[in-house]
Amino acid sequence: MSRYYTARIIFHNTILGLPLRVGAGRADFDPTSLAKDQVLKDSQGRPVIPGSSWKGVFRSASERIAKGRGLEVCTGLSKDTCLERRRKDREFQNLIERPDQALPLFWDNTCINCKVFGTMSVIGAVSFLDSYPVSPNDYSLGMRTMIAISRKEGAVAGKALVQIEYVNPGSTFTFKFRGVNLPNYVIGYLTLVMGDIHQGLVQIGGHKSRGFGQVRFKRLKLTNWGATKVGEEDVDVTFKYGEEMDGDSFLNEAQKFVEAFKNVKIQYPKKSHL
Ligand SMILES: [Zn+2]
Repeated sequence: MSRYYTARIIFHNTILGLPLRVGAGRADFDPTSLAKDQVLKDSQGRPVIPGSSWKGVFRSASERIAKGRGLEVCTGLSKDTCLERRRKDREFQNLIERPDQALPLFWDNTCINCKVFGTMSVIGAVSFLDSYPVSPNDYSLGMRTMIAISRKEGAVAGKALVQIEYVNPGSTFTFKFRGVNLPNYVIGYLTLVMGDIHQGLVQIGGHKSRGFGQVRFKRLKLTNWGATKVGEEDVDVTFKYGEEMDGDSFLNEAQKFVEAFKNVKIQYPKKSHL
């Protein structure tokens, strides 16, 4: 089947951060100190945005885009994946060691997001790497004291002050994801999400309502190995692969992929007979 072509595509670039907060939970064991909500850091003390956070952001943002195009799409949450919705999960698990039968069953009964981001026992077509500051000079951290309002009482009570750590605006992080067997229309689909992130419509990390987590793509590059068209439903796109561009120019150029997404006829998941 042609949709199992081998093509590898990597978006890589750096991002320019506005206050960006990726919580590591609260270090508030000491009752005399203020509750602290810290940025997630690696063993060297560098702030990190885990690839799993990126995946979550892309999946939820793309869900809205897919629904806007009238596509059936699941949330990917437990009990709400396509295979579970269609009660194909048991059958799929039983076939898992027979890919010749499991793959067609999976293809026909799952949405674009199950295929792109993965679902139970299936690794998706894209994998996001952890993001780190480009260099030690490329980031700084800040701390802000905020008042936590108790949801129950609706008032300030008890331990109300929280210190929130964040990454300062102007900090630059790496960003990279890889796609295996990505058709051009799927690149277009993911480009739409990147456009929403770039415009600040989609934020990452916590405290989004306070304006945290807006990032812009500073430099972008798309590299391609192997096939430039995947699957019979895919559309040909010519693109300046391997050329690094500023975020605006890249996203503008990548509208060709977005056109492919807008024009493709997606034939899955097959209509359910339930
Ligand atoms: Zn799905």
